[in-house]
Amino acid sequence: MTATLDLVAETKAILTELGVAADRYTGGTLAVTSPVTGAEIGRLKEHSSEEAKAAIDKAHEAFLAWRDVPAPKRGELIRLLGEELRGGKAALGRLVSVEVGKITSEGLGEVQEMIDICDFAVGLSRQLYGLTIATERSEHRMMESWHPLGPIGIISAFNFPVAVWSWNAALAMVCGNSTIWKPSEKTPLTALAVQALFEKALKRYVAEGGEAPANLSTLIIGGRDLGELLVDHPKVPLVSATGSTAMGRAVGPRLAGRFARAILELGGNNAAIVCPTADLDLTLRGVAFSAMGTAGQRCTSLRRLFVHESVYDQLVPRLQKAYGSVTIGNPLEAGTLVGPLIDRHAFDRMQAALTEAKAAGGKITGGERVESGSAEAFYVRPALVEMPEQTGPVEQETFAPILYVMKYSDFDSAVALHNAVPQGLSSSIFTNDMREAETFVSARGSDCGIANVNLGPSGAEIGGAFGGEKETGGGRESGSDAWKAYMRRATNTINYGRTLPLAQGVKFDV
Ligand code: NAD
Repeated sequence: MTATLDLVAETKAILTELGVAADRYTGGTLAVTSPVTGAEIGRLKEHSSEEAKAAIDKAHEAFLAWRDVPAPKRGELIRLLGEELRGGKAALGRLVSVEVGKITSEGLGEVQEMIDICDFAVGLSRQLYGLTIATERSEHRMMESWHPLGPIGIISAFNFPVAVWSWNAALAMVCGNSTIWKPSEKTPLTALAVQALFEKALKRYVAEGGEAPANLSTLIIGGRDLGELLVDHPKVPLVSATGSTAMGRAVGPRLAGRFARAILELGGNNAAIVCPTADLDLTLRGVAFSAMGTAGQRCTSLRRLFVHESVYDQLVPRLQKAYGSVTIGNPLEAGTLVGPLIDRHAFDRMQAALTEAKAAGGKITGGERVESGSAEAFYVRPALVEMPEQTGPVEQETFAPILYVMKYSDFDSAVALHNAVPQGLSSSIFTNDMREAETFVSARGSDCGIANVNLGPSGAEIGGAFGGEKETGGGRESGSDAWKAYMRRATNTINYGRTLPLAQGVKFDV
């Protein structure tokens, strides 16, 4: 299926087109493989901890200059970044597909999401508003101001190798901060490409008379140790970390220990409830995309499905049919819907979860490896597992296409089961019953950061705040007022009179 692809040449051609010199991704120690064929497509030089520390110092200097540039002018840089991304969309989207194994429309969609957040951030750069607040003291004015925070650390996961940076960086930069990005060690090539596009935008901005310091956006290449360095560095007041709950469990307390802020975007174990009145054609499509799309490697992928007993026998056989016929294979070919898992480790974890599920009484459709002609490429048929109850592997996130299906009879118990896992990222309900839909999105419904009606849990837009509760970490990024996390709030009181009335009637006459 994939043996004849020359991904080395293709990667080189794309990186050259995007402005990355060959010495940036050859001759180093960090090997990058494409999950499409398992072939090595780059070998990057890693930053030493001394280099990373020096980069953080420089990012801090950049922050000191950038915070003085008016926010709408900062927005102009992000507008130009959006233009560079528009121009580079085809190439960068393709590189996402090569490096992560996403199908082409998803690779392009990820870049589109970067463009969308740039547009959002440009508008935001003319707002960044505070409140004016009534004061009890006469001839006084009280208000809040939002100020830049400092160099922002961004740690990202392999599965959204470029969008996560942009959700954070576009907002952080219009808010007056510099950024230091530690991408996943599995996907540093797309990070090099994004950095090159950012540098092109910066060059244009300066050529047009814009003021911007060097080192506004810094990339540090390496593994977990560099992430830890970012987390522990006193000059980094906020780290936005996206990845597994295990990573967040390590990062959260370290940041708290030095009173730094955290935006934690961690694992999900997302569910949907299919009710008696659900439109089953729409449900089938929503479930299929959310559960099998991206080969189950989205933080918002659908992993648990609660189906009402009255529609179970209509929906589940149709789903099994879709699982049996979905096109699996080379994600670079048109028509493919399910590409590869990221690596052997992900495949092993999927098989271990399926073994556990079987032991717990699960009835499995699919889940087997699909041969591609490459020993180191891991394609699988998505697995649909009918479970007698929510137990064992169902309660954990396995980052692979496994959908556990369970039957329910009572709506309130289904909502209780829906919420009875440690994670709280995304959720959905399929129903045409207004009471069920409204209950699901109410205070006693889904306990997740995202709750949808008549669409799957996966596929968010940047206008809303993105993130989840419980072991998903509680962070919010992207739209709504997520920008506030990247700024510090000051409350200012101004006395424009000639007396000094004290609040709460306190007298202090000297
Ligand atoms: P991962 O946790 O293995 O790695 C993520 C990043 O964290 C990498 O850059 C890694 O080097 C770094 N890292 C790991 N341990 C660290 C530590 N102790 N200190 C500092 N940095 C550390 O995750 P992954 O396998 O790349 O990605 C898959 C996971 O990410 C899944 O659990 C998925 O649900 C989650 N995810 C969550 C979101 C979200 O928005 N909630 C988005 C994408 C992915």
